[in-house]
Amino acid sequence: MDRRDSEDASSPAGLRGSCRNVRIIRADNRIIYYLCRLSAVDHRYTKYPALPVTDCAGFVRQEPGR
Ligand code: SF4
Repeated sequence: MDRRDSEDASSPAGLRGSCRNVRIIRADNRIIYYLCRLSAVDHRYTKYPALPVTDCAGFVRQEPGR
């Protein structure tokens, strides 16, 4: 595992906020959950890991506009 982007890692969600494998779930317009979709197919990943995630081997940068 390595740090992919120091700017991303400094956001409240860390790398997760910009990862293609994250599914952002908004509840009650106040609470935001970051679900790792890799957890469904790879037991090494936790469904809701503690934030911020600063190092993750599964991180894949989300392309702008997606
Ligand atoms: S692969 Fe890593 S960075 Fe991406 S959503 Fe899952 S835990 Fe977060």
